[in-house]
Amino acid sequence: MSIQTVESPSRQRTRSCATALVCHRCENSYPLEQAIFACPDCGKGLDVLYDYELAARHFRDVPSAERPHNIWHFEELLPIVDASAQARVGQHSGYTPLIRADRLGAELGLSNLYLKDDSSNRPSLSYKDRVVSMSVARLLERGGTEMGCVSTGNVGTAVASFAAKAGVDAYIFYPNALENTKARACMALGAKVCQVEGNYDEANKRCRELAERTGIDFANITLRPFYAEGAKTAAFEIVEQLDWQAPDHIITAAAGGTLSSRLHKGLVELQLLELAETDPTRIHIAQPSGCNPIATAILAEEAEIHAVKPETAAHSLAIGNPGDGYLVIDAVLKRGGTGGFASDPEIFAGIDLLAATEGLLTEPAGGTTIAVLEKLAATGRFAPDDTVVAIITGNGLKTLDDHPPKPWPDKVDCELDAMQAALDELKRGGTLVESAREQLRF
Ligand SMILES: [Zn+2]
Repeated sequence: MSIQTVESPSRQRTRSCATALVCHRCENSYPLEQAIFACPDCGKGLDVLYDYELAARHFRDVPSAERPHNIWHFEELLPIVDASAQARVGQHSGYTPLIRADRLGAELGLSNLYLKDDSSNRPSLSYKDRVVSMSVARLLERGGTEMGCVSTGNVGTAVASFAAKAGVDAYIFYPNALENTKARACMALGAKVCQVEGNYDEANKRCRELAERTGIDFANITLRPFYAEGAKTAAFEIVEQLDWQAPDHIITAAAGGTLSSRLHKGLVELQLLELAETDPTRIHIAQPSGCNPIATAILAEEAEIHAVKPETAAHSLAIGNPGDGYLVIDAVLKRGGTGGFASDPEIFAGIDLLAATEGLLTEPAGGTTIAVLEKLAATGRFAPDDTVVAIITGNGLKTLDDHPPKPWPDKVDCELDAMQAALDELKRGGTLVESAREQLRF
């Protein structure tokens, strides 16, 4: 693998206002082009710094209507500086719909409920298209030609898809529990897949060592500071789609903690640029009962995570030792938000409730968000007219084989009387909303 330095005079530059990498803990800073992903001094993760005055000027100069409706809409606040790398990645990613959810809202007693539908993100139907687009663009900036990742599910399909489009070889490492369709999708997209006998946290640790030994960049390990920046775009888009009125609440599922912590960073940046008043927005996170280290720490108001051994049907949330967990705790508590969790039956009931009211089929991560949203609404966490945005992070078509089967009547004769009898029988059955509400009642 040949790696070149990021900037050469002949390359055209994006409008990125990124200036440096900075340690989350000790605040030492490093050049943006330096190939590091953890602080050499203290080992903690790195954040990206920006020149916010310059970014504010750019935003005044180039109005929203003149910007592309894709992941690069807010390119000033993204870390990719090489315009040719940016042009090769993510032209159809991001900018997912913000859907007014009147029917789900009516079920939950919320009159201003919205869904940020990242289950329709491109190209791989999950929020991970935001973060992986940054990893792949960074890899191209550095002249890389191959990439690995460790994945609970959706990172893998995003890496497989982006890598194929960029002409990069992809190697996906999965832990022992995952939704099989996701691994099959990676192979269908031409990636090489390796499942290892260990949980995500164990696989993640070994992949870090593998990256160091082989020199192969891993999308969510060695490129992590860049990867994480992609998550902010969800916050930028939500606020712009609400006509620059920040919502009162955002709720999302949390696994490693990248999305929920960078929602906070994105909101802070919009406020810094005076694009919106975002300080009052609360962030709430949802986790499965069988893997809830971040929610538990938030509820106990503890600053550090106690790792757990995941046992949940929501495989994409099965991270027991979340790398960005401490950032999530800080973000949620600073903003007056909270954490909640849901059992596996409640998670699948959340999937059903969303499906039956809004026609959106999500995976267990999205079901977790809806189940916890229901609990927070039922306990009076939101005022009835608060603006609440729930982020739907993944698509249920990828996980349908893992959902509990629903009863399906035996095949009947293709004959009028038999079919009318079958129809009458179907009409006597309860609705999906009713059965979901039954499961969610606690
Ligand atoms: Zn440090």
